[in-house]
Amino acid sequence: MSTRKKLVVGNWKMHGSRPANAELLAGVLAGRPYGAEVAVCVPAVFLTETAATLAASDVRWGAQDVSAHEQGAYTGEVSAAMLAECGCRYAIVGHSERRAYHAEGDMLVAQKAQAALAKGVTPIVCVGETLAEREAGQTEAVVKRQLSAVIHQLTHCAAEMVVAYEPVWAIGTGRTATPEQAQAVHAVLRAQLQAATGHGERMRILYGGSVKADNATALFSQPDIDGGLIGGASLKAADFIAICRA
Ligand code: PEP
Repeated sequence: MSTRKKLVVGNWKMHGSRPANAELLAGVLAGRPYGAEVAVCVPAVFLTETAATLAASDVRWGAQDVSAHEQGAYTGEVSAAMLAECGCRYAIVGHSERRAYHAEGDMLVAQKAQAALAKGVTPIVCVGETLAEREAGQTEAVVKRQLSAVIHQLTHCAAEMVVAYEPVWAIGTGRTATPEQAQAVHAVLRAQLQAATGHGERMRILYGGSVKADNATALFSQPDIDGGLIGGASLKAADFIAICRA
């Protein structure tokens, strides 16, 4: 039996408003206690209020992206030091939406992970193949390449990251990887982490992609799935609570 504590992270993406956030967070707080560690990654402008709301609880918060730069003339970017100042435990890096819409490549993602870790913010590094890559039999090669870039950048700190396997074809589509499909990729990633860091057995690998209350238990009971990164279903307290309890 694994000693890894399950982790469930909500990715709000570009959703929310002050009143909606207050209601959602009140719901998440009311759903405690959870057996899993629970966190929400909110839009950067809401971090301070989220921190104030969650500070006295065991629910963590984080950002959805971070700059690779420490500081300077990078209009619109938010540094890891700023996230740390807002009390962020986590920062998602390399989400497929950033890779696709902002042309973020493996090297930039790796530098972002390093920038986060340097300020004590744990990067949640997303990897995942597109449908075309899966159908071409390239799933393993793609996720290993994406993860390898981060492992090499982080060197001796690589064991401090959290990895999220998010098949691009399952994100926001309602199409979920089967527990067996997800487990197969998680096992590959864990072997890669173990070979590179020697700590693969204690590192957490989350699954993301249309996780819902009704499929979370089957996914999370796979031996190498240590929780989830939850998009759409993290926006409704009842759905998110059910997943956190799964
Ligand atoms: C995500 O954005 O990380 C995600 C997994 O989204 P969804 O749960 O909506 O598929």
